[in-house]
Amino acid sequence: MIDIKSMTLAELKEDMEAIGEKAFRAKQIYEWMHQKLARSFDEMTNLSAALRETCKERYEYTSLQVARVQTSAIDGTQKYLFALADGNLIESVLMKYKHGNSVCISSQVGCRMGCAFCASTIDGLERNLKPSEMLDQIYSIQKITGERVSNVVVMGSGEPFDNYDNLLRFLQLLSMEEGLHISQRNITVSTCGLVPKMRELAEEKLQITLALSLHATTDEKRKKLMPIANKYSIGELMEACSDYFEKTGRRITFEYSLVGGVNDTDEDARELIALLKPLNCHVNLIPVNPIKERDFVQSGTDAVLAFKNKLEKNKINCTIRREMGRDIDGACGQLRRRHKEQSLQ
Ligand code: SAH
Repeated sequence: MIDIKSMTLAELKEDMEAIGEKAFRAKQIYEWMHQKLARSFDEMTNLSAALRETCKERYEYTSLQVARVQTSAIDGTQKYLFALADGNLIESVLMKYKHGNSVCISSQVGCRMGCAFCASTIDGLERNLKPSEMLDQIYSIQKITGERVSNVVVMGSGEPFDNYDNLLRFLQLLSMEEGLHISQRNITVSTCGLVPKMRELAEEKLQITLALSLHATTDEKRKKLMPIANKYSIGELMEACSDYFEKTGRRITFEYSLVGGVNDTDEDARELIALLKPLNCHVNLIPVNPIKERDFVQSGTDAVLAFKNKLEKNKINCTIRREMGRDIDGACGQLRRRHKEQSLQ
């Protein structure tokens, strides 16, 4: 069956014609899927019953079931656990800011990158998400809350560049005029640093923000936290970042999760400054969110502030990621893991 929500409008028009339907039907269906956010063909009331039946036989229509929602009492952040059609579970997060609603989506079920501090990767990769399944996370949340989603970050479970073709199609569908039309400037994709894909993305000349999970300033240290560092050096990463900036004009965001006593020392700050000073960039400091499977500890508030001050003194633009939803398993993959554990008991 064809995954209809992952099709471009041109592809759907062609397919409608192939089954003897008028091309304008594609436009109608498209509007139902990507603007009215219909959850099934049955909602598409301006199509004939016969066409709706044909569609059900010909196409797969993805939609998510809410398995669980947790709302933070501290900041209103909502964490959604969604069930996919095959029963797999994924997490998405809604964060409410003054400038609008931001949704953090997953790009894979699980992850195979193996970062030491991350809960999403503990059971490895289950499968890639389809473009439709990435869109569905945003569509479901907008539909449930009745509020417009204005920003999207691909920073949930999974490595988006390990699912590159689906990611590109998702970005195209999310920003298209016939859909939610979210500005590319309001979309951020975070990667642990798959250099060839970073370079490929630069060639697309999109206006999205690229975020790089750096987390360490030497290859030796990075290898201890992130297995991908065995494949690509920090030098290669920096070159790919410069290339992205040159080709797109978009400044890079560097994510740096502060782990107490591991990467938050004076020396780390000095090295980070030396590394980033030549670049036009932004640094997002994330106090590591401890997960119970690992014994990493968060840097103390003083250490985090001191680290930030050092960067700022050297004119490196920097923010501390607000710990949204700390009371609701805010860290990647924690809710899914806990849900699975509880269902096994
Ligand atoms: N695979 C992508 C995107 C998913 S993770 C990537 O690596 O960038 C989003 C960010 O959260 C990454 O910077 C990741 O390293 C970080 N992260 C994961 N688990 C974390 C934890 N327990 N505490 C702090 N940051 C974490």
